[in-house]
Amino acid sequence: MKNLNIMFYFLFVCFFVISCNQNNEKKVKYDQTVGQTINTFYGDALEFKESYNLLRVLSKDIGQRLSGSEGAKKAVLWTKKIMEDYGFDSVYLQPVMVPHWERDKTRQEAYFLNSNGQKISLSILAAGGSVSTPKEGLVANVVEVKSLEEVDQLGEGGVKGNVVFYNKAFNPRFINQGNSYGSTGFQRRSGAIKAAEYGAVASVFRSLSSSDDDVPHTGSMSYKDAVDSIPHAGLGVVSAKKLSAELKIDKNLKLFLNFGGKWYPDALSHNVIGEIKGSEFPDEIITVGGHLDSWDVGEGAHDDGAGCVHSIGALRLFQKQNIKPKRTLRAVMFMNEENGLKGGQEYALQAVELKENHIAAIESDASAYVPRGFGFSGSDEQLEKLRGWLQYFDKNTISYFSKGGGGADIGPLHRSLGTPMFGLNIDGQKYFEMHHTEKDVFELINERELELGTASLASLIFLIDKYGL
Ligand SMILES: [Zn+2]
Repeated sequence: MKNLNIMFYFLFVCFFVISCNQNNEKKVKYDQTVGQTINTFYGDALEFKESYNLLRVLSKDIGQRLSGSEGAKKAVLWTKKIMEDYGFDSVYLQPVMVPHWERDKTRQEAYFLNSNGQKISLSILAAGGSVSTPKEGLVANVVEVKSLEEVDQLGEGGVKGNVVFYNKAFNPRFINQGNSYGSTGFQRRSGAIKAAEYGAVASVFRSLSSSDDDVPHTGSMSYKDAVDSIPHAGLGVVSAKKLSAELKIDKNLKLFLNFGGKWYPDALSHNVIGEIKGSEFPDEIITVGGHLDSWDVGEGAHDDGAGCVHSIGALRLFQKQNIKPKRTLRAVMFMNEENGLKGGQEYALQAVELKENHIAAIESDASAYVPRGFGFSGSDEQLEKLRGWLQYFDKNTISYFSKGGGGADIGPLHRSLGTPMFGLNIDGQKYFEMHHTEKDVFELINERELELGTASLASLIFLIDKYGL
């Protein structure tokens, strides 16, 4: 009897172990049909190049589209029409008030006189949102620093009446250029506030660039009510080096600056939203998006025209295969990521007000180069599940799901509703050569690299829709 009990117990354990294994295998078992669908997403994207053709129009015919500009208005109407022409189930505009700043493109001058009395011109570009220098420009001595703390140490005695020159370079030893961007970004974002606290008349910064060229970069900056708003601009890397070298010879050199821009009242703009309705769970929403606004230099092809056409293109790939998703798929062109994030905030606000059920949000805002993986902000259990899906991806495209990541525009949704969020990670070695510069144009886009991004998004959406998170 006792032996029989032991035998039953043994059989039970065996059965339990086997069924657990089956469950595990079930979770990760390769499904031919799913594999086929995903292969077809990639094949269709690479053959038909619809995202690439859309990006050509967005970059070349519409071009720059800073919030509040004519270009931004055109881009809103154009993306709406594209999604209507594709026959998405519903396409609509979500109104949002956005900041409106315009660069004075007639004034972008900087130079100093070297010890031989020669005029050395510097390439300069106002940070987005900068006030202007006086019309005739300004002339002042320069103090060079590499951190905000150094400005504190110099204090009013060292800073007042001068131009503060932030000269912290990208660290070439980082494999991930995003880390360099992160550790130098304070110069552009907070440099003017810190310099103004001690009475500087203006501030300039070395462009947040991985390149050794002389193309200046722009980007967002901030002011603080309690201190003066002073003019703030980026210098090309070569120009920053020239200025730094001369300062070693002549601490008293005079820098001439003449640049700026103007603030206008907030403008009415829109997020553009296109949906394919879910057949089984229409109330469960999967959002995929990029930002429609761009800086006012270049064409915003990589940043973030690519993310927009990735998102529209991903839904388009569902249509190509005539796949009816179970959940509602939403492509969102967010407005105003670059200098305010109003579009992302409004999208989250509306989602809360309308009590929408967002099961996942994905953002593509890392350029059009080759996709490498997805960053994910959600639970560890979800992350494990996602890793089981890697078998469906060619390792030359998506080879990992990593912990952490998402996007600036979907961050508010993640924070207010707890929606799990993904960011499409892209090979970033070249991104900071042209980020926020006149070099970000359509000619830099490789059609196959761009299309791999579109297909990667479609594949992830398909898997989320099929298996849930
Ligand atoms: Zn961007």
